[in-house]
Amino acid sequence: MSLAFSATPAPAQTPDWEAVRAETLLHLQRMIRLNTVNPPGNEITVARYLDSTLKAAGIETHLFEPAPGRAAFVARLKGNGSKQPVVVMGHMDVVGVEREHWTVDPFAGEVKGGYLYGRGAIDDKGMLAANLETMLLLKRHVVDAGGTLSRDVVFVANSDEEAGGDWGMGWLIANHPELVRGEFALNEGGRTRVVQGRPLYVAVQNTEKVSHVVTVTARGPGGHASVPLAGNAVLRLGRALAAIGEHREPVQLTPTTRTFFAELSRVWPVAAERAAMADLASSSPSRAQRGARVLERTPVFDAVLRTGVSAVMLSGGIRHNVIPTEATATLNVRTLPGQSLDAVLARLKRAVGDSLVEFEVTERGDDAPPSDFRSPMFTALVEAVKELNPGMAVVPYLSTGATDSARLRRWGMQAYGVLPFPMNQDDEDRMHGNDERVPLESLHFGTRLIYGAVSRVAR
Ligand SMILES: [Zn+2]
Repeated sequence: MSLAFSATPAPAQTPDWEAVRAETLLHLQRMIRLNTVNPPGNEITVARYLDSTLKAAGIETHLFEPAPGRAAFVARLKGNGSKQPVVVMGHMDVVGVEREHWTVDPFAGEVKGGYLYGRGAIDDKGMLAANLETMLLLKRHVVDAGGTLSRDVVFVANSDEEAGGDWGMGWLIANHPELVRGEFALNEGGRTRVVQGRPLYVAVQNTEKVSHVVTVTARGPGGHASVPLAGNAVLRLGRALAAIGEHREPVQLTPTTRTFFAELSRVWPVAAERAAMADLASSSPSRAQRGARVLERTPVFDAVLRTGVSAVMLSGGIRHNVIPTEATATLNVRTLPGQSLDAVLARLKRAVGDSLVEFEVTERGDDAPPSDFRSPMFTALVEAVKELNPGMAVVPYLSTGATDSARLRRWGMQAYGVLPFPMNQDDEDRMHGNDERVPLESLHFGTRLIYGAVSRVAR
């Protein structure tokens, strides 16, 4: 057990980890029992719970109700100001449930077979519980023990992450920026993976792909369906989509993906993929190409290697006997950070090669700079993991999904996505699904990971 605060005037006491385990579980159960399915959200119930718990511990809190039933909550442990604040954040709302497919009551917080079940157990009330416990432990074992924090530790709980996002981090940044500004933030968005029964790696999201919506419109002559026309817009669109489906954007490694694969290659259990990861991360272009060819067969790896284009919607025609003059498809384009959408569209147009097919950007996403994976925050995460399990790798991670962290990065903060609970694919797939659950052992590991990282960076 490390003395995390040996450099402070009074050494911190080591928490009683068995008591911490029970306390974290209790907080998470209570938050799961407060139904915050969004819509309508009603996050104010969880915010009041957090408010009373932290207040009772003597911690400064700020509770806002930006709209009836919605809440934005901030708590702060004061440091000596020698460094900028670190923010730990999570969202209080959850997605809905298909009750008939659950084997337990999704809002009971039931413990069964070593798991805590409930909507929000891993997305994102588990994070809230780990963050809450971190605040309580820092207060008890550092501040009240006469120790000093070098920076404020700020706890943020948001609303409306799962739908709309109107009352989330954006609202706090717009209305109370002074409360949430800091140097570092820990948010959702990462992964802690158990592969073949072994906790293997912690992927810390430090950058993400940018999501855009593009409409493809094919035009052609209209007429009676009894007289087939070669220029038929529906067929033209079909040919265009086939070409788009064949097209592959070039493989492009960012510093994050290169390090991700290099580090992962040290621990990956499948030999062929392990070798491909090392090849990809090597400095030899021909080896890198060979590695990419192996890894791109796995869709989740392929998606971090290149810009991705998914066809997601189709429309055209008004009735069965009329050839329409127009048919459209919607594409979701996810560019690698720093890549130009216009350049991608130029390549797609060339691949389609039909001047009667038009591309229009209907929603352009905002890029954000990556967070530094050699920063004191990242290092603190690495050290916290190594203390708990020296065999696990900690890797920077480019997520293909978009998170609120991009907003923070554009605002000048170094945001990192973590999901600190070791989980196998099955447990992870229950996120937004049925029988969502967190292994009790993983909840404890995650709590210690967050506490270990935050206490180190605020040392
Ligand atoms: Zn979430």
